[in-house]
Amino acid sequence: MQVLFVTSECYPLVKTGGLADVAGALPLALAAIDVDARVLLPAYAGVVEQLATSKALAPIGDLFGGDATLIEGTTIAGLKVMLIDAPHLYDRAGGGPYSGPNGHEWPDNHVRFGALSWVAAEIAAGRLGVWQPDIVHLHDWHAALTAAYMHFHVHKGPTQPKTLLTIHNLAFQGLFPEATLPALRLPEEALEQGGIAYWGKLSFLKAGVRWCDAVSTVSPTYAREIVTPEHGMGFDSALKDRGDTINGIVNGIDLEVWNPATDPHIAANYSESNLANKALNKAALQAELKLDVEPNAPLFCVVSRLTEQKGLDLLLTALPHLLACGGQLAVLGAGARKLERAFRRAAKKHAGRVATNIGYDEALSHRMQAGADAIMVPSRFEPCGLTQLYGLRYGTLPVVANVGGLADTVADTVTGFRFDPVDAVQLVAAIERACDVYATPTEWQRMMHSAMTDDVGWDTAAAAYRTLYEQLLQSRR
Ligand code: ADP
Repeated sequence: MQVLFVTSECYPLVKTGGLADVAGALPLALAAIDVDARVLLPAYAGVVEQLATSKALAPIGDLFGGDATLIEGTTIAGLKVMLIDAPHLYDRAGGGPYSGPNGHEWPDNHVRFGALSWVAAEIAAGRLGVWQPDIVHLHDWHAALTAAYMHFHVHKGPTQPKTLLTIHNLAFQGLFPEATLPALRLPEEALEQGGIAYWGKLSFLKAGVRWCDAVSTVSPTYAREIVTPEHGMGFDSALKDRGDTINGIVNGIDLEVWNPATDPHIAANYSESNLANKALNKAALQAELKLDVEPNAPLFCVVSRLTEQKGLDLLLTALPHLLACGGQLAVLGAGARKLERAFRRAAKKHAGRVATNIGYDEALSHRMQAGADAIMVPSRFEPCGLTQLYGLRYGTLPVVANVGGLADTVADTVTGFRFDPVDAVQLVAAIERACDVYATPTEWQRMMHSAMTDDVGWDTAAAAYRTLYEQLLQSRR
């Protein structure tokens, strides 16, 4: 079976978040179960240079106003990729895949990601004369227009590839002015039939939902939540109109990169059968962050984007109670200025008990997971979440809101602590419960063992995706 992943980011070539991790790891897990999965993404500046091997594969010709070529290659980990080399769209100095050096989104993002989708549809239709997939697996809004292009521009024969759209976060919908429609090579008709139109704008994601063959998301609970008006972010009707089930498949984590027994970033390696060294990591982290080096103070940590979604304003409200339990708090994150300032103020006010690091620091995030006793994820919504999975693997018990993938991956009082409704009162109650259990070391260690032996790798998810692909192919016959 041949599967083309279409994505705007892919670890380790280009990463801004969890989507890159999925696109970088899932195809490898699929390859291990005989699925030939390849990843299509833009050749942003500096990406081709990171490949272990690369060669020009086929000319694409004019791609929305400039000449483009398809390059194929492999990463150091053996991942097969196809890159769209279109300098007028992707080869830009500074900034990232979505925004320029000034932090503003690139003004032609509709064309840049329309082009990604266009090339995916051309490959799927066999028009570039290269390797052709049975399944085109679209990730988030950047790839979603592929389904529209296949609907409007590709002849529908029995062998046409099937499309699966995976929604990693419904908050990102790919919204652009309606006037951009002709530039995207879509007919006026696309605005009708409950298609791409979304409250006076165009939504790439909505087009994907309308015209793909199946939709999935990254946890069963989030799959149920997004068809409700409360959590559907205006998409609940579009999702329900499909009349089929939204599949929810929980993400895995890379067990090589996130392994306390071999992690090169942490002070002392440890494992489920040798927990003693975790205390060394705690002491080292407390010292590094200028927290009081107290082995018996429950150390809570946060590693997160600081946004409304993540519910960290609730943690600020709960902080006096956390401290009253004798707890400490270490925060690593960046985002909303207001939250950054508030956590900095808290660290100043409670020196020795609260530490705040504003910024993005991959190595420190490993040391936090290894050194803390618990990781907090009080998100208002969370499609899957990765930091609680790292927490489980590192015996750092998650304290999480009972939403989305957090509800599916953390077992209350077995591997962590869940609370709902998502408010400060319930967060305080969860923190107090955690502190109570922490006060009985045998109980806490029992939970650590359960957490560390939980299955958080990719195998289960890869098998579930393969089943989904097979079901789609059966409907083709
Ligand atoms: P989201 O994708 O919504 O940001 P996830 O929990 O799915 O949330 O993934 C976030 C990823 O980014 C995790 O790997 C987490 O460790 C990492 N991360 C978030 N903020 C930081 C930071 N400030 N420094 C280092 N890593 C971070």
